[in-house]
Amino acid sequence: MGYNHELLGTLGVDDESTYGKKLAISVGVDTLGMCTISFGSNYSIRIPEDDVDALRDILYDASRKLMVIRSRKIMLEKELKSLEEPYHVMCEDCQDTYDMNDSSITHACK
Ligand SMILES: [Zn+2]
Repeated sequence: MGYNHELLGTLGVDDESTYGKKLAISVGVDTLGMCTISFGSNYSIRIPEDDVDALRDILYDASRKLMVIRSRKIMLEKELKSLEEPYHVMCEDCQDTYDMNDSSITHACK
């Protein structure tokens, strides 16, 4: 079997250093059991299967961590927004209702 390289695909990623332009990342495998990853046209790595797996694992961890950070932010923003909306509660003593989120109101029992 002769040497053969198969290009699996090319991604355009938003890299900060390329200022709005996409950076092309190409991934291919060859018949010598190596994976070639090219970053743009000036830099590439050619790594074996176990390193591809290690890279995949760490990228998966990064992806999960970013997802957690993103959903925490969304939850926090919702929480902060809900603090700005009126929240009416009833005083157990006088049964009067008042807005708990309005800091200008200090409830005084009638
Ligand atoms: Zn009261």
